[in-house]
Parts: sequence; structure tokens; C-alpha cells
Amino acid sequence: MKKIDVLGVKIAHITNAEALEISKGLLNSEGVSKIFTPNPEIIMAAQEDTELKEILNSADLCTADGIGVVYASKILGEPLPERVAGFDLACSLLEHISHTGDGVFLFGAKPGVAEIAKAKLESKYPGIKVSGTRNGYFKDEDCHEIVEEINNSGAKLLLVCLGVPKQEKWIDKYKDSLKVSLCMGVGGTLDVLAGTAKRAPEVFIKLNLEWAYRFMKQPNRIISRGKALPQFLIKVINSKGEKK
Ligand code: UDP
Repeated sequence: MKKIDVLGVKIAHITNAEALEISKGLLNSEGVSKIFTPNPEIIMAAQEDTELKEILNSADLCTADGIGVVYASKILGEPLPERVAGFDLACSLLEHISHTGDGVFLFGAKPGVAEIAKAKLESKYPGIKVSGTRNGYFKDEDCHEIVEEINNSGAKLLLVCLGVPKQEKWIDKYKDSLKVSLCMGVGGTLDVLAGTAKRAPEVFIKLNLEWAYRFMKQPNRIISRGKALPQFLIKVINSKGEKK
């Protein structure tokens, strides 16, 4: 698989369809595989946090979640075919396992959210097996019990929705104790599935304007976090200059 280097984070050069095929393969492969879906904010965080950068680069699949990463690839002269958002990839995989009978464990978000997401998934993908749920607010000493709960559920797919970098670090720390086939760190996915957070309407997503929709909904959060995007693109331009 071709990868491109965006500020030291290796991103797969693939389409959504290819990402789904690779993910299906990982679900059926030996050992515990990991998928992360970095956006510009995560790549910026990885500049300061070398542990996070190493964890991202140890993934079996790291896709570009965010049009900012696609822009960066164009600046670097190695354009990615498209954005491969964690939410979309997770939904495609959930649909897939609703036909194969493999179970999914939903881990993360505030108490009650994963249970609502489970009910919504069961009506959206009839046949899906949600093997277990657990909220994402816990103490370090609870982790052993959480791992046991996930393992006892028999789930093959584990969605870890604890926000960045908590989910990446949790997956990395416990991967050797887990018996699932595939872990995905997919942030706010459970909130969107449950309907406690809304994704942008299709037209915004198609036009790559999901960020604009979020801005309208949460201006303060985006203003404070949104500074990362110009800083990210400037850093990418500088990194290109350094490579020459
Ligand atoms: N979350 C969690 N445990 C925590 C912190 C966050 O389960 O200790 C959940 C939070 O409830 C939300 C998800 O992680 O469902 C993503 O959080 P946020 O939007 O803050 O992070 P991002 O995805 O933007 O990094």
C-alpha cells in the first residue's frame, strides 16, 4: 500500500472503497489490527507528542480524515484520491458485519450514548450483532475489567471513541490483551450514530464543506480549534521546502 508522509505521519494513499477492502481483510487476519484516521488537528498534536506519532505510524491503516489532509497531500505533490473519514469507514464496516454475523463492541462516549447507538444500529443495519457497550468515562484501574468485558463479548470489531489522543493511546496500551481482530479509534462516531451529535447534511460533505457546517453549529469550539488548520498547512508548505 502506497503511503504519503504528512509531517511525519504516514497516510494511506487509498480510496474509501479500497479502505473498506483492506479493513475487511484485517477483520479476518491473525492478531489485533489497528485503524486510525488522523485529521490536521491530530497530525499537529503528533508534532509535540512523539508517542502519538509512533502509535499512528504503527497502525495497519491510517487514513486521511479531513479535507485538510487531502489539501496537504496536494501541496506535497502526492495528491490523495479522496478523504477517507473514520465515521464513513466505520459505517461501511458495520454494514459489512451485519451480513457476516461478526460482533462489534461500542466503547466510548458519555453514559447511555453507546446504548442509543446500539439501538439505532440495530434498526439501520438489521442483522448486526452489537456484542457489548461501555461508556468512555473510567479510571485507569477499571481498564483490566473493560478489556475482560470486551474479550468476553466475543466481538471481532472494537470501536474506541474516547477522543484524541486518548483512544489511540488506549488501543496501543491494551492491544496485546485484547482478543478482537480489529480496533478503530473513531472519535465522535458513537455520538453521531446515537444522534447526540449531528453530522453535516450530505450536500456539505459532498462539497467538502463539513468544517463550515460545524463552524455554524459550534463557532467557539471551531474558532479555538480551527487555528490548527492554517498552522497545519503552513507547516506542510515549510516541510516541503525543507525536503527540497
Ligand atoms: N470521550 C470519552 N471519554 C473521555 C473523553 C471523551 O468517551 O475521557 C468521548 C466524548 O464523549 C465523545 C468522544 O470521546 O463522544 C469524542 O470526544 P471529542 O469530540 O472531545 O474529541 P475529538 O473526537 O474531537 O478528538
